Amino acid sequence: MASTTFPPRTATRRALIAGALAVGLLAPAAASAQENCGRTGAGFDAWLAGFKQQAVAEGVSPRTVAAALNGVTYAPDIVGTDRGQKVFGQSFFQFSDRMVANYRIQQGRQKIQKNPELFSRIEQQFGVPGAVLVAFWGLETDFGAFMGDKQTIRSVASLAWDCRRAEMFRTQLMAALKIIDRGDLTVQTMRGPWAGELGQFQFLPDHYLNYGVDFDGDGRVDLIRSAPDALASAANYIKALGWKAGQPWLEEVSVPANLPWDQADLSIKIPRSQWARMGVVRAGGGQLPADQLPASLLLPMGRTGPAFLVYPNFDVFTEWNNSLTYATSAAYLASRVAGAGPFNRGQGDKIPVLSMAQAKELQTLLNARGHHVGRIDGIIGAATRQAVKTEQMRLGLPADSYPTPDLLAALRAGK
Ligand code: CA
Repeated sequence: MASTTFPPRTATRRALIAGALAVGLLAPAAASAQENCGRTGAGFDAWLAGFKQQAVAEGVSPRTVAAALNGVTYAPDIVGTDRGQKVFGQSFFQFSDRMVANYRIQQGRQKIQKNPELFSRIEQQFGVPGAVLVAFWGLETDFGAFMGDKQTIRSVASLAWDCRRAEMFRTQLMAALKIIDRGDLTVQTMRGPWAGELGQFQFLPDHYLNYGVDFDGDGRVDLIRSAPDALASAANYIKALGWKAGQPWLEEVSVPANLPWDQADLSIKIPRSQWARMGVVRAGGGQLPADQLPASLLLPMGRTGPAFLVYPNFDVFTEWNNSLTYATSAAYLASRVAGAGPFNRGQGDKIPVLSMAQAKELQTLLNARGHHVGRIDGIIGAATRQAVKTEQMRLGLPADSYPTPDLLAALRAGK
């Protein structure tokens, strides 16, 4: 799960930093009032001794506890990296132009073509198509090429001692010990980026423990060195997130100029046939099926940019990574691997993307008008989009929820 805006992670999400570490993206900080609580390494050893007892009490063998935690030292550099995370606020164009590169589409297709039996066996068992798996695989680690090489135990132990997300990382540390205890990895082979993600899909240790599958039959769940294990585990996790076999996830469409733009809202899910009645057609101009499949209209660059219908399976992408930019890019990459053409950029390049400073100013102005956009972080998330939409409607602008310099100017001028 790479980081886009990778907002604060929770243990329900597969990764702390949406996989794009490999390509140099930065994860968003988990901002909390305790952000600078200033804990140092003093006391780490005593805390670790207590954790060891707790691990044994939870059933981890004393041998594993000793092998993994004896001599582990606090890693201030890891915690420093975590504290210094920058919020990621790229637009869909900025992110997808870079991440949904042609080489990644081609490699994704080749992965499936070279292993048809593996991918079809996985789809049979879990219902998840190969295109979706290779999209996440490509975005997270470039198909296993960039998985990180820091010792997970030391990183996670340091983060568990640090005060900001201690609870979450203690869960991860315990899971990491259980993975070693189970014989899947050793202390030495358990390596990844700085926040504990593991393997070709950057699973957090607790997801590794709970959703990991031994698919190559060697008796171990090895999400680092075994592509079959990693792919089947990703499919198992995606299935658990609610993937509906045989259903689409995202489809590019063309929309009429007179569409009621306020309907373009992920919280509005209406039958596909209803979109067809409003004049929405497939990107090539073909008719949409007149069925009841629930669909939302997604305009990631506003009404003049590309348009997509997204279906219930799209929710799995936002569960994987709650940044809409990441989720949309991953779903789009999967569609490309599955054979779709490049999206029509429309006029999406003509409207300047708000800078981080402008986005923060917009959020401040929206809050001042009584909206609740949450933290002023410059990330245009669901709450900001909702407030933008309300203001667009009030001002008589097309209410596509997309923040533009014009809207910012109007709010600045007190309109
Ligand atoms: Ca295996």
